[in-house]
Amino acid sequence: MNSNNWDILTQIIKAGEGMDLSNIRTPGVPIFQTSNYLYDNVEEGTDILLSKKPGHIYARYSNPTTDALINIMATLENSDSALVFASGMAAISSTILANCQAGDHIVSSAYIYGGTYTFFQNQLSRFNIEVTFVDPRDHKAIASAIQKNTKILYTEPLANPTVIASDINYWQDLAHRHHCKLLLDNTFTPPPVIRPLDKGADIVIHSATKYLGGHSDLIGGVVCGSESEIETIRPVMKTFGPTMAPIIAWLLIRGIRTLGVRIEKQNATALQLANYLSGHPKIRKVYHAGLADNPQYGLTKKQFNGFSGMMAFEIDGGENKAMTVMKNLKIILFTVSLGDVSSLISHPASTSHIYLSPEEREQIGITDGLLRLSVGLEYVDDLKADLENALLSI
Ligand SMILES: *Cc1c(COP(=O)(O)O)cnc(C)c1O
Repeated sequence: MNSNNWDILTQIIKAGEGMDLSNIRTPGVPIFQTSNYLYDNVEEGTDILLSKKPGHIYARYSNPTTDALINIMATLENSDSALVFASGMAAISSTILANCQAGDHIVSSAYIYGGTYTFFQNQLSRFNIEVTFVDPRDHKAIASAIQKNTKILYTEPLANPTVIASDINYWQDLAHRHHCKLLLDNTFTPPPVIRPLDKGADIVIHSATKYLGGHSDLIGGVVCGSESEIETIRPVMKTFGPTMAPIIAWLLIRGIRTLGVRIEKQNATALQLANYLSGHPKIRKVYHAGLADNPQYGLTKKQFNGFSGMMAFEIDGGENKAMTVMKNLKIILFTVSLGDVSSLISHPASTSHIYLSPEEREQIGITDGLLRLSVGLEYVDDLKADLENALLSI
């Protein structure tokens, strides 16, 4: 490469270019921070472009670091294949747009992430794709919402913030009897809590921003499914361009290595806190999948391995008292998002569900006194003391 005939201005550009690093193996996955790739000759590039040969063409389509994450996610969700995206919403919108035409219909749980709800209601209507929202517990209502043109059934195994569970066995049986696909957003209950593809779901989606990343330092999304499901979505990813950056894939791989121990610990701590708050005189109601008085306890115990690190509780006395409790917390952080190593608290009525009317919120249990808690990795007795102390302020 280092030709002496070249001017120093050229040598500055050419030195070290295209070095072959393929013989290097490392315990972690390196970041291939590149937008394009070099070939031995023009024919090789053409063969890769036409998929006659494995390789990479352009990083909007694929990158070795994101490929490594794809492999890891396929293992985690026990799928043939996967795709990764710039955000959870990119994963959701790409998957829906790849699977629906104008005139199609979707049956969705009404208890879904606010951004997904808005996408379904405000964006899909522009493409003449209609969505009917149902209570995911009301099996009769779900069945009767299915129409001739229904293509997709959509739900979250455990919904935000009042931990309403969907019976995945029922949903998948219903979907397949009507030749629909079952799409699940598994953000709240990642492996090892539940692996929905093993239960017959067709496609599993994650906001990797939450538990998979686990450190509140990235935005990302994942879709897992069979080879044919992924090949249906890939052209949308390639042409719409919501690609995940290599450094985000690298951060996610690093985060995922501790997913198992984080989830086990967070689930155990959440259950302890839920039981503690259940007996508290200033708390009206506690929502957690693992509480014996949860009306869906039979289902959640069977369906979720270790329940969840997510919970919610209603402060007696409404919004002012809920806000006072949040202000007096010293360890638990007031912020949106969830699944972090730090415990995070939020007030759904003024954040995630602010766009609903007070009546709509009341209907789905989002009262003004409700707080959502994403339990982190702090020592459980310190979290208890933090909550106890904040509750003393009201
Ligand atoms: C955060 C979230 C999303 C959206 O993911 P982004 O990474 O923020 O785009 C989707 N579903 C659920 C359940 C979420 O919590």
